[in-house]
Amino acid sequence: MNVEFSADQELLRRSIREFAETEIRPHVREWDEAQYFPPDLRPKLAALGLMGIQFPEEYGGAGMSAVDYCISIEELARVDPSICLSVAAHNGLGAAHIFAFGTEEQRQTYVIPLARGEKLAAWGLTEASAGSDAAAIRTTAVRDGDGWVINGTKQFITHGQTGDLIVAMAVTTRGKGSRGISAFIVEGGTPGFRAGKKEDKLGMRASETSEVIFENCRVPGSQLLGAEGQGFVNAMQVLDAGRIGIAALAVGLAQGAYDAARDYAFTRRQFGQPIGAFQSIRAKLVENAGRIEAARLLTFRAAAMRDQGRRTTLEAAMAKLYSSESAVRAAEDGVQIFGGYGFVKDYPAEKYFRDVKLTTIGEGTSEIQRLVIARQLLAN
Ligand SMILES: Cc1cc2nc3c(=O)[nH]c(=O)nc-3n(C[C@H](O)[C@H](O)[C@H](O)COP(=O)(O)OP(=O)(O)OC[C@H]3O[C@@H](n4cnc5c(N)ncnc54)[C@H](O)[C@@H]3O)c2cc1C
Repeated sequence: MNVEFSADQELLRRSIREFAETEIRPHVREWDEAQYFPPDLRPKLAALGLMGIQFPEEYGGAGMSAVDYCISIEELARVDPSICLSVAAHNGLGAAHIFAFGTEEQRQTYVIPLARGEKLAAWGLTEASAGSDAAAIRTTAVRDGDGWVINGTKQFITHGQTGDLIVAMAVTTRGKGSRGISAFIVEGGTPGFRAGKKEDKLGMRASETSEVIFENCRVPGSQLLGAEGQGFVNAMQVLDAGRIGIAALAVGLAQGAYDAARDYAFTRRQFGQPIGAFQSIRAKLVENAGRIEAARLLTFRAAAMRDQGRRTTLEAAMAKLYSSESAVRAAEDGVQIFGGYGFVKDYPAEKYFRDVKLTTIGEGTSEIQRLVIARQLLAN
């Protein structure tokens, strides 16, 4: 078993880190407070291949592996988890769903501009009454001649307002449960499709999250994505991969929180010595360093398995659960190590503490990851 990154992967890590430190770090607080994802950042991300990380070059992507994807996500999250969340949702949900299940025509039409960063993707499964129980969605798509008419409201959609298109799941056959759900690509500007309320969030504030509304929204038959009735099954497959990305995001966030706390511990002095000399502060740093490394190993194992074409339902859920819960502890200990300065916005600890909670909620809560793991481990 090889546990080393290749020279190319180390180079990738260094280049993304340098980009994040120079192009993102100086603006983290401003974008957080303004709840703003700067439009001019997108072409810069695209120039590094970060808007189409895993898509083949002939589809405008960077042709990187799942391991490379996790390296990129980790390094972005280390500096700004909310910018990273947008990158992960674009790559790992909307664009990934179209690439994995779209026709060649849909890939040509949509994946290429998405991967080049010319367009931004949203992905809509969640509704007000269907979060963890995602198969309970009520949005419907009814056949109408050679097209479909979509009605319903999606909740908590990343890029609901700023996205150029959405992959939306809707019920096409009532009474068939998850087998009666299909996916559709809906372009911005389609009559009957609009964004609703933008959420004012605790954290991940530079990543826009909004309601999305379909009112008699007619789309041509060509907008059906994947086979009719397979939308939910395909969405779960997309999430299997997406969760590895959220695990990598949590690892990066935890690393960022840890790095800030470690640096602070050796500059802040109390009782005539750096607080990093006190055993209880050292213990926090040591325990977090171990948990972050364990989370990283789980995450990169899941990514490496994906690169081998293996199924990762269990490994992705384990990686997401452990990484996100570990990241919460790293962010909380980060605030504690900063003391009162951890509670104010002039220092980075409080933002990691606010951002981190999303990692235990988005793309399936910790409780749902435990259900997924139990189903895989305890099925008889
Ligand atoms: C910032 C942000 C961005 C998001 N982006 C997207 C997006 O782009 N696209 C999208 O489709 N969705 C998105 N979501 C939605 C997200 O996936 C859901 O919030 C999440 O799946 C949880 O659903 P819920 O909020 O309705 O909580 P609920 O399902 O109501 O859960 C509430 C609580 O009950 C627990 N619970 C529920 N069922 C069980 C059970 N069976 N056993 C034990 N405990 C249970 C949950 O774990 C949780 O603690 C986003 C959410 C946020 C906050």
